[in-house]
Amino acid sequence: MIDKYQLQTEAAALGVELSDAQLEQFDRLAQALVTQNQVMNLTAITEPAEIVTKHFADSLTVAAALPLPTGAAVLDLGTGAGFPGLPLLILRPDLQMTLLDSTAKKLTYAAATAEALGLTVQTLHQRAEVAGRDPAYRADFDLVCSRAVAALPVLCEYALPLLRIGGCLAAMKSVRAEEELAQAAAAIRILGGKVRDIKTYTLADGSSRTILLIEKTSQTPTNYPRPGTQIAKKPL
Ligand code: SAH
Repeated sequence: MIDKYQLQTEAAALGVELSDAQLEQFDRLAQALVTQNQVMNLTAITEPAEIVTKHFADSLTVAAALPLPTGAAVLDLGTGAGFPGLPLLILRPDLQMTLLDSTAKKLTYAAATAEALGLTVQTLHQRAEVAGRDPAYRADFDLVCSRAVAALPVLCEYALPLLRIGGCLAAMKSVRAEEELAQAAAAIRILGGKVRDIKTYTLADGSSRTILLIEKTSQTPTNYPRPGTQIAKKPL
């Protein structure tokens, strides 16, 4: 269904190489997405060429932005229909990938799709700020990646408690990334983080994708994350 050459080219532009088998998995992922989208609302992007650029290549910017050690524990926070988590797992099946979302339906779809592609994922049906207080998940991940979930100060409060010290949040942002970063300065400091790097990519449709890499450098104080209502009412 997708033009595999298009995906290969757009990935290569990011420095990401895809094998024929991986291109085939991406094709099957596109099919699953479009088919299931007729049953539940997963995405507004349904044109194959757009799926390639806005879902697949865009997700792969995370892998382009930072090296991921073999077997790294990755959490896709607010994964929705599996972005960026599923493309990252196709690229790097060695990753221990957890997909987190508060909506069970989308997670069920994402898990079934991963399985159909021969990939292993963990799913976590939970709000991020609840998972962040759960000893089973707190300080458990090497990377938290997230697209289109929350403004950066809120996202940092969701994500930093879940990271190990030395782990990193890859926040996928667009044009106003630097502005958001400035607004999140206090939150990052309070939660034990530090800006490690900022990487910007131009996708094939001309849109800009910035990955803000925020490293956890010290333990997050135990009073964070706060309950969701407080986070929303009084972002750090
Ligand atoms: N990352 C996907 C989906 C973005 S939509 C993509 O870019 O395509 C935002 C998703 O985040 C929704 O599925 C929503 O259920 C989830 N979400 C928002 N706030 C959340 C929270 N606090 N905890 C868990 N999931 C959350």
